[in-house]
Amino acid sequence: MSALSPSPAASVARLGDVPSLRAQVRAWRTAGEDVALVPTMGALHEGHLTLVRQARETCRRVIVSIFVNPTQFGPSEDFSRYPRDPERDVALLATAGADAAYLPDVATMYPPGFSTTVSVAGLTEQLCGPLRPGHFAGVATVVTKLLLQALPDRALFGEKDYQQLQVIRRFVRDLDIPVTIEGVPTVRETDGLALSSRNQYLSAEERAAAPHLAAVLRRVADAVRAGAETAPALAEGRAALEAAGFGPVQYLSVNDADSLAPLDRVAGPARVLAAAYLGRTRLIDNVAV
Ligand code: AMP
Repeated sequence: MSALSPSPAASVARLGDVPSLRAQVRAWRTAGEDVALVPTMGALHEGHLTLVRQARETCRRVIVSIFVNPTQFGPSEDFSRYPRDPERDVALLATAGADAAYLPDVATMYPPGFSTTVSVAGLTEQLCGPLRPGHFAGVATVVTKLLLQALPDRALFGEKDYQQLQVIRRFVRDLDIPVTIEGVPTVRETDGLALSSRNQYLSAEERAAAPHLAAVLRRVADAVRAGAETAPALAEGRAALEAAGFGPVQYLSVNDADSLAPLDRVAGPARVLAAAYLGRTRLIDNVAV
């Protein structure tokens, strides 16, 4: 497997526009090398780096895009204060074996006159969808663009953002985008908290309470696994989150793992998903049943 050993730091190419991205991908393809894309918003952590390492297991070349996409943030959300540190990110990518970092600016992604939106019905009408109007259309549009700009063989996304992963699978299938989508299990701290760029917003006290979210999800999953009604387990879980200092709890829900339809009882693959505020920070997480 020596061909897949990590590249030295100096070899992470920094690409900023579509022509240079396409020229790089074309050069690799001409050399017979396949290409994976890992889209991110930067502020990279071990979760992102796990996607990069996993990408390298199947593809010879890995591109990581870093773009804080304004169209997926609502007007009262954290776009302006979202953590940004591209120098640190690129250095981390070198250690994880990425070959290129694609860092487009807003004008590259949304040139003047830009007027097209990709929106996915059904899957986006529950969970985070109604709470973050326009969010999934913003995600679907930017991921469509990234996929068409790079035309990778494979693109990797975290199960941490489970609804997002399902939305991406859906439009890739609906629009016949020639890419394989791979979901990667959530990377967690040892206390169970899912890694997230937004965890750095948490105060020490909030950080100490944060692992309750994953613990409650696991408890609900255990309770409903055998086909018991979901409602009592969800009510108990919601109360436990509130007792731990979360609030508001925007949703705590058991849903079909594919369609994301809410379930009263579990009879097949399902997911327990939650979104809840801890102070000013909105955390999301989910586990398989
Ligand atoms: P973001 O930068 O938050 O947009 O995330 C970029 C990609 O990394 C998305 O596919 C996320 O689902 C994934 N990701 C974020 N956090 C984690 C995590 N803790 N474990 C696995 N993947 C993650």
